Amino acid sequence: MAQAVATALAQRSVLVAEAGTGTGKTFAYLVPALLAGGKVIVSTGTRTLQDQLFSRDLPRVREALGLPVAIALLKGRSNYVCRHHLERNLLEASLGSPRDAADLREIARFAQRSASGDRGELSAVPEQSPAWSLATSTRESCLGSECAHFQDCFVMQARREALAADVVVVNHHLFFADVVLRDTGYAELLPACDAVIFDEAHALPETASLFFGETVSTHQLIDLARDTRAEALAGARDDPSLPRAAAVLDRAARDLRLALREDTGRLTLGQLRSRAAFVSALDAVLVELDSLGRLLSQHAERSEGLGRCVERTEALHRALARWRSRALRADAVAPPGRPEAAAAAGTVGVADPPIAGADDASDAGWVLWAEVLAHSVALQATPLSVAHVFREQMAAGGHPRAWVFTSATLAIDGDFSHFVGAMGLTGATCATWPSPYDYPSQSLLYLPPDMPEPASPEYARSLVQAALPLIEAAGGRTFVLCTSLRAMRLVHELLDQALRRRGLIVPLMLQGEASRSELLRRFRDSGNAVLVASHSFWEGVDVRGDALSVVVIDKLPFAPPDDPVLAARIEQANRSGASAFSTIQLPEAAITLKQGAGRLIRDETDRGVLMIGDPRLLGRGYGRRLLKSLPPMRVTREIAEACTFLRRPAA
Ligand code: SF4
Repeated sequence: MAQAVATALAQRSVLVAEAGTGTGKTFAYLVPALLAGGKVIVSTGTRTLQDQLFSRDLPRVREALGLPVAIALLKGRSNYVCRHHLERNLLEASLGSPRDAADLREIARFAQRSASGDRGELSAVPEQSPAWSLATSTRESCLGSECAHFQDCFVMQARREALAADVVVVNHHLFFADVVLRDTGYAELLPACDAVIFDEAHALPETASLFFGETVSTHQLIDLARDTRAEALAGARDDPSLPRAAAVLDRAARDLRLALREDTGRLTLGQLRSRAAFVSALDAVLVELDSLGRLLSQHAERSEGLGRCVERTEALHRALARWRSRALRADAVAPPGRPEAAAAAGTVGVADPPIAGADDASDAGWVLWAEVLAHSVALQATPLSVAHVFREQMAAGGHPRAWVFTSATLAIDGDFSHFVGAMGLTGATCATWPSPYDYPSQSLLYLPPDMPEPASPEYARSLVQAALPLIEAAGGRTFVLCTSLRAMRLVHELLDQALRRRGLIVPLMLQGEASRSELLRRFRDSGNAVLVASHSFWEGVDVRGDALSVVVIDKLPFAPPDDPVLAARIEQANRSGASAFSTIQLPEAAITLKQGAGRLIRDETDRGVLMIGDPRLLGRGYGRRLLKSLPPMRVTREIAEACTFLRRPAA
């Protein structure tokens, strides 16, 4: 793999490298990247891997090679204190609770003594404290070179260091948010680099579609209202109508969220259009944004901060008006006068691209939908495919560079076409380096017989009954990975009852009881725990050794077809005559299944049993394809054999 990466770097070509667990893929790309010289961006899927690369792997490789390579870790701008907003919000005594005000003062003291302004260094203020949003900037709220603090700005300093470094470690979110979208003062990084290496690249299509789309959220509106109040206090005290208009906008934004009854979830355009309260709340926000913009424009010249608020108000108004007009124009799929029918059918709206400057993407199609969170709602326009946008980004900057995409899960039964197609890669060299682990002797795949169909009401109970003997034989030490939160809660409840009935005393944990890292710490420390989890634990979780010996997967992980974006992609594929099932749903399920199964064997001494409850794995034609994409485990349908395997000490 190192040789293949070296060739891609030398030829400035595209390499897609699937490297099984334990191949040492990190060193396989770092060694040639450092030897090749030039400027390299390494992007990871998670912050954990980003930190691990920067503080452990990169220094180790650099030392081993004896090369004077400068490395930098770049985080998103919300990780650094923004002196401008901190200063403004310290003036605004009415912001937040006394606790928030105390936190804000603590951050101010930190900003005076810190060299980096990295909030990770200030443990005295909790991560969730609302004070952080008062002391950090967003892409929209940053004044950039107009800011009085531009020279001693922490964000800009981190970026200057990244520009000067040979190897810059980022994560996929930051790559798309800052590097591709050219956040303030940062346009030079991607054009200047000779190679981009994506680790955990399987997550890229989804992350890219988030950033190549357009979002307007009530969060942004509330932030704008808050910043306007702070800027008015600092630079336009003589006009009381400004803070009043900001307060009205704040209220209108909150009303927009309240117009949706859901606690959380994703809503299709058809569902949104059927809610009269939502449509009128949306119109009210537009009216208030317009009023605030008119008032603000009278004060635009009085300070940089007020000028920036004018621009943000106009940009949000434009984006929201565009979303609304596109939403109402999507009549072809949500007939006027029959919105309820469309909602009942789960119909989605596919509209033209709503983003100015993206007209060349008009044939690709966009889906309009809303993400409802506990305290906010985000109106989304997501491209159905990121392929053409990503291809343009790869060509940007004027000079060719190498692109390496690597992950343990990129191919389905040796076929890379799903990933390559989703990212729009042309002329890519694709190769697989299988895991060096001895799966046939280190592991066993148990497929319980007599399981009901997954839709059966008895399914969860049968799953628990099938898994119990394994849990007993292993003495706990089990992950139960479920495909939905609902299934997770039900399985947890049934398992709790069943363990009690059997008198099995093991710590039973549930995703959400504590943070992921805390649950993992407890799981490892206890040595006999059972953890029931959902999506958060299917990937990026590494429990080596005896603490984890059984992984139970409840069902084949097909994404819910009523998800607005997936539903639109299915509709588009079916309209074009392709089978959405075999080109979209099956490959995505195969990648997720491989990720989940990959939790079991984490090094060459690990042993364990993987149980997959879903009878479709053997009963349907596509099940065989999914089975073939799993590591080469020996398969059994005999519970006695699986239990004996677990009880037998390692050879
Ligand atoms: S340049 Fe932007 S991030 Fe830096 S202090 Fe000014 S507003 Fe804040």
